[in-house]
Amino acid sequence: LTEIEQRRQAIAARLPELKVDALLVSSAANVRYLSDYSGSNGLILITRAETHFFTDPRYAIASQTIPGKVHIVRGPLIAGVAAVLKRKRIKKIGFESAWLRYEEYAKVKDDLPLGSGLVPVGRVLEEQRMVKSAAEIAKIRRSVAVNSEAYARAMKRVKVGMREQEIAASLDFEMRRLGAEASAFETIVAAGERSALPHAHPSGRKLAQNELLLIDMGASVGGYSSDMTRVAHAGTPSKRVRDLYKAVLEAQLAAVDAVRAGIPSSNVDRAARKVLKQYGLDKAFVHSTGHGLGLEIHEPPRVAKKDKTTLAAGMVITVEPGAYIEGFAGVRIEDTVLVTEHGCEVLTPTPKELLTI
Ligand code: ZN
Ligand code: ZN
Repeated sequence: LTEIEQRRQAIAARLPELKVDALLVSSAANVRYLSDYSGSNGLILITRAETHFFTDPRYAIASQTIPGKVHIVRGPLIAGVAAVLKRKRIKKIGFESAWLRYEEYAKVKDDLPLGSGLVPVGRVLEEQRMVKSAAEIAKIRRSVAVNSEAYARAMKRVKVGMREQEIAASLDFEMRRLGAEASAFETIVAAGERSALPHAHPSGRKLAQNELLLIDMGASVGGYSSDMTRVAHAGTPSKRVRDLYKAVLEAQLAAVDAVRAGIPSSNVDRAARKVLKQYGLDKAFVHSTGHGLGLEIHEPPRVAKKDKTTLAAGMVITVEPGAYIEGFAGVRIEDTVLVTEHGCEVLTPTPKELLTI
């Protein structure tokens, strides 16, 4: 069996428990997971025995290798789905409540015969995607390697006086040159006091002497993401900067140390928070400790205070505590980490000492 077929069978086997006869898959990442299709217009209908894939004529050639029944639909794909549902007399259709557009929902609902119904099923495929296969882990490793190498190459050229946008362009350029099809998300480059904004968009702000430079970047390689944050400093860092960096690094190492199969992901979050509290920085840590990644840059599990997910071997998560002080600076240190039976493997090879420019 191919991996795609195994995935299909795994979700098809869950249909009775979900109390549906078929599942309509509309999340682009879930469609890709079940078909390898990476275009922008695809839907999948899974029944116990069959997979129906729907796309438009632009993808007719590309979809020839997709397993299952391929339907090339002119106009809205959902009309093609509705036709199959009617023809096959499928009664209970599960749909992804987080991803099916209301227009599409209404169209299917209108076309269904009396006695049929649409049932929201939540993020069942995301749950299935949490534990990665060996092939998926290999792709994430490649993505991580490309990302870290792109960082190393671009940072050699970073100088005081460069604009955040220039630095971001250089990071993205190296990533692409090394084989990434894209960056996994918009590269974050934040200089000086802007590093206190956890999700700063690169601006025209120039890096000045004696300030921090925060970079959060990820590559997409073969569809799989990586995610890393590092902080550099222009010139010799002050004691205040060194202390802030040391606290976040200690929190990051404690959180990494907590990662292993069988524990709630919230334990990892707690480990980071405990350290930051000792330094009086718990209030400065304004986001959760991490997230799963794979076909998407953010996917379950969350590594957060209230998350109930039990970590399992084969999950890939980020560990990224931070501390942000308005008007001064922010520090975040982030690695991509593979959960193993007795601990974890930090996939990100980039050193974690404060880099001096
Ligand atoms: Zn990140
Ligand atoms: Zn992240």
